[in-house]
Amino acid sequence: MTKSLLTDASRRLDRALKYVTISEDAAERLKAPKASLKVSIPVRMDDGSLKVFEGYRVHFDDTRGPTKGGIRFHPQVTLDEVQSLAFWMTFKCAALNIPFGGAKGGVTLNPKELSKAELERLSRGYIDAIANFIGPDTDIPAPDVYTNPMIMGWMMDQYSIIRQQRSPAVITGKPVALGGSLGRSTATGTGAFYVLEAMMEHLSNKRSGKQPSSPKTVAVQGFGNAGAVVARHLFDAGYTIVAVSDSRGGIYTPNGLDIPSIQKFKADTRSVKAVYCDGSVCNLVEHEVITNDTLLSLDVDILIPAALENQITAANADAIQARYIFEVANGPISTDADDILEAKGITVFPDILVNAGGVTVSYFEWVQNRSGLYWTLDEVNQRLKKQIVAAADTIWHIAQTHKTSVRTAAYIHALNSLGAAMDARGTRADYVSGNRE
Ligand code: NAD
Repeated sequence: MTKSLLTDASRRLDRALKYVTISEDAAERLKAPKASLKVSIPVRMDDGSLKVFEGYRVHFDDTRGPTKGGIRFHPQVTLDEVQSLAFWMTFKCAALNIPFGGAKGGVTLNPKELSKAELERLSRGYIDAIANFIGPDTDIPAPDVYTNPMIMGWMMDQYSIIRQQRSPAVITGKPVALGGSLGRSTATGTGAFYVLEAMMEHLSNKRSGKQPSSPKTVAVQGFGNAGAVVARHLFDAGYTIVAVSDSRGGIYTPNGLDIPSIQKFKADTRSVKAVYCDGSVCNLVEHEVITNDTLLSLDVDILIPAALENQITAANADAIQARYIFEVANGPISTDADDILEAKGITVFPDILVNAGGVTVSYFEWVQNRSGLYWTLDEVNQRLKKQIVAAADTIWHIAQTHKTSVRTAAYIHALNSLGAAMDARGTRADYVSGNRE
């Protein structure tokens, strides 16, 4: 039987709990989602037939505010996956001090097999099915794997039709023309770059000249929305990106890939084929075609998993040679693999910090929608940098103080703020049993 992703995710909590003083009640409540909705979405296909798709929306915890989390369209979406993604969102929002709880949604399908019109009907059908489970003050979706601003625009429109009022704040990651925030589409990759730069500075202060080399070579698994943007920032900052990949495989060159050309090729062709260099980009550099497994085990300074969860497990962790791993994807490393990597001296910077730029700018989008005042790109990026670097610094210092992994430190930080909110809110049970003074 395959191990539950949520069970594995919860093991991270157990490790952090011994460093925090939150009540046992609060800790217990954080082990299971508050509510999970499973829906059927009937969609009229272009050939006239009717197909029924399965979808989910999960609220994990709403103590710190309305729940927040993306919607994934992927053939491997299951309730367990959506619940674990909602768990991570809860801790991510708490770690970043964003006034939201955690949620996630998903539909089990391969969106590449649907026409644009079918995809729009499916997206609107999903909102019809979950409309009473979401709302600007209750639960606010956003994009995730294989969903994008166009889909968020359709979903916002459908929700507004149902409610008979324009409701931009119900969903984030919308097209800018429909109330989306500038900088949202690049926020995850940009935030990851800010975290990486901040952590490199801490590491270099810690080394204090003992180790001369600063990290320069990078491999990125998953050249999508998040992975391509972080690759581009690193390329512009002078790092050598030796390998990138997508779901079908990757390319490698020790001299470094020309990331802007790969991005342009991908944008022009709208095809993930771009990373295969079967067009003009191929000729820019000599390269070798590699598998995703090979990419993960390359001898690089920095490895960036930016595709899906469970990419590094006990089965392949021994083969990992990178010095540092920055988790841009959600949950790319299993808990067993964490232990193996730690024993090998590899430092892992966790998803709930590294990829939190997306939800941070989603929060900014929600604020802008509710106030009606829109910010410049510079304003968005400055606020993003301030918020994510503050969290990175705090988490780094907690890791140094308690001598824990950076992941455990991130959970300690998140748990402290979640526990404080839970205890401050009290529980009805306490009143009923007369426990209160
Ligand atoms: P995306 O759909 O834009 O890109 C995903 C990329 O991964 C694609 O290039 C795809 O081909 C590739 N991929 C899929 N399976 C793969 C495999 N087995 N091996 C290698 N590559 C594979 O999605 P995204 O928005 O960039 O999300 C990527 C990850 O980042 C996900 O884990 C997501 O949850 C996480 N994330 C995204 C955001 C965001 O704002 N987009 C925010 C936080 C976290």
